[in-house]
Amino acid sequence: MNRVLIIGAGGVGNVVTRKCAKVPEVFSEIFLASRTIDKCEKIKNKIDRRIETAQVDADNTGELIALFNKISPDLVINVALPYQDLTIMDACLETGVNYLDTANYEPPDEAKFYYKWQWDYHTRFKERGIMALLGCGFDPGVTNVFCAHALKEHFDEIHFVDIMDCNAGDHGLPFATNFNPEINIREVTAKGKYYENGQWIEIEPLSVHKSFDFPEIGHREMYLMYHEEMESLTKNIPHIKRMRFWMTFSDEYLTHLRVLENVGMTRIDPVAFQGSEIVPLKFLKALLPDPGSLGKNYRGKTCIGCMIEGVKDKTPLSYYIYNICEHEVCYKEAQAQAVSYTTGVPAMIGAMMMLSGTWKGEGVFNIEEFNPTPFMEKLGSYGLPWTEKFL
Ligand code: NDP
Repeated sequence: MNRVLIIGAGGVGNVVTRKCAKVPEVFSEIFLASRTIDKCEKIKNKIDRRIETAQVDADNTGELIALFNKISPDLVINVALPYQDLTIMDACLETGVNYLDTANYEPPDEAKFYYKWQWDYHTRFKERGIMALLGCGFDPGVTNVFCAHALKEHFDEIHFVDIMDCNAGDHGLPFATNFNPEINIREVTAKGKYYENGQWIEIEPLSVHKSFDFPEIGHREMYLMYHEEMESLTKNIPHIKRMRFWMTFSDEYLTHLRVLENVGMTRIDPVAFQGSEIVPLKFLKALLPDPGSLGKNYRGKTCIGCMIEGVKDKTPLSYYIYNICEHEVCYKEAQAQAVSYTTGVPAMIGAMMMLSGTWKGEGVFNIEEFNPTPFMEKLGSYGLPWTEKFL
């Protein structure tokens, strides 16, 4: 008997709930809680299994503790926003509940994200005898597992990693983000950063780019960005010399973003407006399409993977591992677009690893710290097949 509590009834929460519902032998009881109860009900009503719903403000630790005490979950899957990571972890500590998320903590008033804030919980989680699994989506998440798999199966030393995230889909709208608009725009407009020879090198936002020929998609322009999995992977891959993260954007997306930035709509500081204060980016989020609603008209594929170079038996080796996902197929199965789908499936598999005891630990862990093999085996069977190529 395992009770799982999913927090966050957005695009990713929809996929996690549906996927957990299909595995009753692991997730015997499912609870879905979020700020807006109607969104939980909407998801619940489309699933052919008993799902309990609840309203909770996950910024409020007291409310979370009361909810956890009421339903006694074995595990909380946090797919609300990164702002809620610490309050949810605090409630887990108080009540002795295991924790999993897909994005690292970010303070609302500062566009910065580091694992440090969550790694600082390690000793307290260990002393409490509970486990936290951080960054269990696709990137971070599967990209970390791809690196762990490469190191375990194919390389003696990994020296260079390029994580490449391509969404070649078309949702038919002039401008929309594929996951929460506020988090997405904060990430894309931040300075880029990559790791080389023990140092982090900062660059102006989206100032470095190049073309790559993605399998089943073709050439796309991709832009160097900072992404959170690099923080843990550069610690956990012993001989790493350089690590970069690249993401593709269409010209249309970039033009809209530039205009929004230039007119101040992406600002995160409060601005006085008609006697009250508004945060422009929060207001913009209210105007933009809900990422969870894009699926119906989305066409095309995503390709996310890792290009890895290193040595095996003293011989240089180049290797590429990736997943291809199709928006239409995701919509047919889970009424979701591929970005929500590729995040929700790994979160469910990570939860399965924890609840089945396949991945065990006391403290706070990143996903590449565990044996990648059982996770890799499940990816294909739950909708995210992967391909590896030796170059
Ligand atoms: P959405 O905005 O679609 O969903 C977020 C949900 O969280 C909403 O239902 C929202 O409620 C709820 N929520 C927000 N604040 C609170 C709160 N204080 N209390 C309770 N519920 C709250 O986002 P996505 O589903 O697109 O993304 C979810 C998470 O997944 C994000 O953290 C995102 O960064 C992460 N992500 C990770 C990826 C990866 O590969 N690792 C890729 C994509 C996303 P309401 O409906 O009331 O606003």
